[in-house]
Amino acid sequence: MRLILLGPPGSGKGTQAHRLIEEYKIPQLSTGDMLREAAVAGTETGIHAKTIMDAGKLVSDDVVNKIVSDRIDEPDCTNGFILDGYPRTLTQADAVEEMLAGKGVQLDAVVELRVDDEVLVERVAGRYTCINCGTGYHDTLNKPKKDGACDNCGGTEFKRRPDDNADAMRTRLQVYYKDTSPLIGYYYAKRKLKPVDGMAEIDDVSREIHSVLDFD
Ligand code: ADP
Ligand code: ZN
Repeated sequence: MRLILLGPPGSGKGTQAHRLIEEYKIPQLSTGDMLREAAVAGTETGIHAKTIMDAGKLVSDDVVNKIVSDRIDEPDCTNGFILDGYPRTLTQADAVEEMLAGKGVQLDAVVELRVDDEVLVERVAGRYTCINCGTGYHDTLNKPKKDGACDNCGGTEFKRRPDDNADAMRTRLQVYYKDTSPLIGYYYAKRKLKPVDGMAEIDDVSREIHSVLDFD
């Protein structure tokens, strides 16, 4: 199963990716994590990316594409992968098509999580993740069963992203609608798009994703 999760910040990509990993036993490829891993591993591209990131700049498409391509060649991606937060632009989407074609594989589906803007702001402003295992929570919408302890691993340390506030969200949403939302049309035209109601309860969203992924 080769999947892309597409949707604005706060639409539930991370939450659903976490569940899909278990269900399909395939890894989630987050470009931010991959860049940091490549830097730690000391690959040529990784070292190059680290210099750029340390300077606070954006890593170029070429570098991100190369890192994703190398990652997909790892043995744990043989049965598939979930791309979350990438591609973000039409240029990157073209690069993904070309890269996968070069490897003789194809995307199975692009799951688009649809959520209204007001809800996105509410979700993002209250979210935090477990430092140990990355499971995502929310102050009011998705609390751990036991206060202050991760349901998944029991961890007690959590982190919040500095750009997860209403102010930064306005800019992030504008960037999403301008640069990333054109991918909806792009994948629709390729008959890969599977829109899902991301406003539903987390379990219901999972069920809907499951049902749209059951190919005939
Ligand atoms: P993304 O990865 O798309 O930015 P997240 O998966 O981090 O989004 O979800 C954003 C926040 O909303 C998190 O705090 C998460 O716990 C919560 N959340 C995710 N999906 C739902 C949902 N269907 N209903 C309510 N809250 C949700
Ligand atoms: Zn945890």
